Amino acid sequence: MIKKNRLFTPGPTPILPAAQSVMAAYGAHHRTAEFRTLFKQVLADVKDFIGTKNDVLVLTSSGTGFMEAAVSNLTSAGDRVLVLTAGKFGERWVALAKAFGCAVETVSAPYGETFSIDEIRSKLTPDVRCVYVQATESSTGARHDVEAIAKLVRGVNDIIFVVDAITGLGTTHLDVDAWGIDVIIGGSQKALMIPPGLAYGSVSERAWQRMETTKSPRFYFDLRKERKSAAKAETASTPATALFAAMASAFDYVRQMGDGNLVSGRKALIENAELCAAMTRAGVEALGLKLFATAAPAAALTAVRGPSGIDSTTICKRFREQFGAIVANGNAELKGQLFRIAHIGYYDYLDTIGVLGALEHVISETTGRSVEFGSAVSAAQKVYSEATSKVAVGAP
Ligand SMILES: *Cc1c(COP(=O)(O)O)cnc(C)c1O
Repeated sequence: MIKKNRLFTPGPTPILPAAQSVMAAYGAHHRTAEFRTLFKQVLADVKDFIGTKNDVLVLTSSGTGFMEAAVSNLTSAGDRVLVLTAGKFGERWVALAKAFGCAVETVSAPYGETFSIDEIRSKLTPDVRCVYVQATESSTGARHDVEAIAKLVRGVNDIIFVVDAITGLGTTHLDVDAWGIDVIIGGSQKALMIPPGLAYGSVSERAWQRMETTKSPRFYFDLRKERKSAAKAETASTPATALFAAMASAFDYVRQMGDGNLVSGRKALIENAELCAAMTRAGVEALGLKLFATAAPAAALTAVRGPSGIDSTTICKRFREQFGAIVANGNAELKGQLFRIAHIGYYDYLDTIGVLGALEHVISETTGRSVEFGSAVSAAQKVYSEATSKVAVGAP
């Protein structure tokens, strides 16, 4: 049978066809009126997509570049920072803050779980300068309660609150300004449905003020320099111009999802991810599989424990070889323990039903156990049908 290549990974995610053709055709020089017009539009759209009145920036780098900027621009060596970590991306904050000489305090939770709010409260001492967290921890499939954490942080002194929402933006509701998130970060290869290479984010007035006094070294990721250039609709060095064109096209698509309104489109994109995730959870549970993040599963992706005795590497391999579907294994030491199916961005009903149908075969063949074909698919269909019953065709 034909096997179409399909990404079910939590980044990179499937590419929007319209963005792909725009990108292939784009050849403008970056110091021209043509690019400036595009850049201005992209910045305005990033604001609506994030949902903020704060300044926004788009950097030519992967998401980690903006994460690094959120450390190098906002800290000085020796600063006490608090990292909330419950997975490989939380650990990235720890490593980054250490690389810049910060005194790193952590609140951690076991992989798959989320934080104790009381423990965070007890660690928010007045000397903490910055708090770093993920909105959704893509290595475990857990969603963290950014609103509750923000409430605590905002209650203490002048702490800078930084959220890695690289898989959170476009999959979970985040009220950046109302909650007081100082820096929030997204990446192009996640909910924006375009290739890797751009990181975007917003920066609050409090964070800009902090940058006036911090001393960590920075050059390429000097956010103040980028802000000055952005005010002239330029970037400090050569941007990934074709990716900017792709990004504009992705925002147009999201706007269409919201009947011409980008903010509504973002909400529709989040609801889409939530529904695909709910369908997937129901499907995997119908097969007797266990979710990796049980208490607070993210809509960005669903992490699933392999059936007992089966290494998840075997499952990912089977998906790839039999169906051309790329399902993500666990990262680093989580490899073998779980597999991850993404719902970020350009996924629809048929993708979700298809991957669950394939999962039935994969489980049947890797375990040798008899699987009732259709059980995962049917559980997902029930979720879909209930969620959409209000608009069901033929309803009285
Ligand atoms: C993908 C991802 C990153 C890393 O982004 P890169 O673009 O690979 O640098 C960071 N945090 C989270 C939560 C992610 O999902």
